[in-house]
Amino acid sequence: MTAAPASAERTPLEERLIALIKANGPISVADYMADALGHPHDGYYMSATPIGAEGDFTTAPEISQIFGELIGMWLVQSWIDMGEPKAFNLIELGPGRGVLMADILRAAQLRPAFLKAASIFLVETSGRLRHEQQRRLRDLSARPLWADEFSEIPPAPFLLVANEFFDCLPVRQFEKTETGWRERLIGLNEDGTALAFTRAKTPPLPGVALPENAETGAVFELCESAASLAREIAVSLVEQGGRALIIDYGHLGEGAGDTLQAVRRHAYWPVLASPGKADITAHVDFDALARAGVDAGAAAWGPTPQGVFLDRLGLQARIARLASGKPAEEVEKIIRGAHRIAAAEEMGEVFKALCLSSPALPAPPGFDAP
Ligand code: SAH
Repeated sequence: MTAAPASAERTPLEERLIALIKANGPISVADYMADALGHPHDGYYMSATPIGAEGDFTTAPEISQIFGELIGMWLVQSWIDMGEPKAFNLIELGPGRGVLMADILRAAQLRPAFLKAASIFLVETSGRLRHEQQRRLRDLSARPLWADEFSEIPPAPFLLVANEFFDCLPVRQFEKTETGWRERLIGLNEDGTALAFTRAKTPPLPGVALPENAETGAVFELCESAASLAREIAVSLVEQGGRALIIDYGHLGEGAGDTLQAVRRHAYWPVLASPGKADITAHVDFDALARAGVDAGAAAWGPTPQGVFLDRLGLQARIARLASGKPAEEVEKIIRGAHRIAAAEEMGEVFKALCLSSPALPAPPGFDAP
């Protein structure tokens, strides 16, 4: 395990977790992640400035406006595929600083009827980020409504986008030992002064689906809240009609191992150091999301690598259009941004797009027909 760096400070959340573990015993990795990110007062997303150059990490919409513009066109085409409903919900999960939604709305100005029909819902738990979203979207005269959870949004046909949202949802971890699977937990070090990884003494309860043929030492991650959210979205897609576009850092099912990581000021950080002050994520298991969606009756498309997806949506044409008539320095910046979000060796391959769709709709733009 990585030792805490010298700059790691003891946080109020860490004190509370240590006291809680002393009293009640070790907690799951999922409980730790949920508290470190989402604690109403001391959680990372509530108290910090996570995103952007001055924050801890950056995301595709923050790197290039083309990302949101192409997704805006994807949404408009999806709305057309749905038969141009006069009223629909345009939903974003975890909108960060509101940059993606702003780019989407700007691009969608090409189709005023789409904007007229859209009721915008932003699912965001952080008050600070809500404030920032409001400020950014006000410039576009958008009047979004906020929700804490997807389930609070009134039923209607909908289009949903989630970029780098599912990777914040808490994962449980399991390790294959000589004596079978054991849940990985967070307890205390020997003198009880710091958080430390440990293992459950007994096997997990039946009903936790763990891979059958894993080798000793293998780690398996299970994101129950991601699967249940995908299921909930799929049920609504079947009932109301629409599409959901999920983009994230992720993999396809088993064999990914331990993907839990923390990032602070654009550098890796030990997962257990200074909880509430670093971002913690785990790679998204796209297979599990697609399976949950299909089991609930939706169609699943992809996952398609982000670079391929953006290319198919017209990345090159958009670069050319944006660059036209701009000074060389600007052109260089546009090309550099597009390269970062789409090149295979940058974000183009490890980030993937998955579409859950009401089964009645045709293949969504950017995805292969089966
Ligand atoms: N989509 C943005 C930001 C990604 S960061 C972008 O691409 O830049 C993750 C976002 O999800 C933040 O806005 C964070 O506050 C929000 N978030 C994290 N966990 C959440 C939860 N359980 N419910 C609602 N929002 C959450």
